[in-house]
Amino acid sequence: MLSGKMKFKCNNKECSEVIEVDSSDFDFQNTWTDEDRGMGSEEGYEGEVQLVCPNCNEEYEVSYEYTEYPIGAPNFEDGPKINKTVEILENSLTIF
Ligand SMILES: [Zn+2]
Repeated sequence: MLSGKMKFKCNNKECSEVIEVDSSDFDFQNTWTDEDRGMGSEEGYEGEVQLVCPNCNEEYEVSYEYTEYPIGAPNFEDGPKINKTVEILENSLTIF
C-alpha cells in the first residue's frame, strides 16, 4: 500500500499554484500476479490520479507502480511519475 503525500508546483508560468496529492487519492489496481515464486506470489499494482489545477485548469496525471512480494510486503516501487515536467516541492509518497 502507498502512504504519504506529494506537493508540486503547477508548471504554468503565470500560475505556480501548489498542487497536493495524497496517497489515498490513487486508485490502485492489481495489474499482474506472478504465482511461480519461491515465497509465494508477487503482485504488481498500478495507480493513477487525474488532477486539475484549481487556479488555471492545467491537467496533470500522476502515476505510481509497486509490487508486493511476498504478498503484503513492499518489494519494488516506481513513482511518482507526472505526465508533465513540474517542480516537486515535497514528496513523502512511499510504499509500506
Ligand atoms: Zn495552474
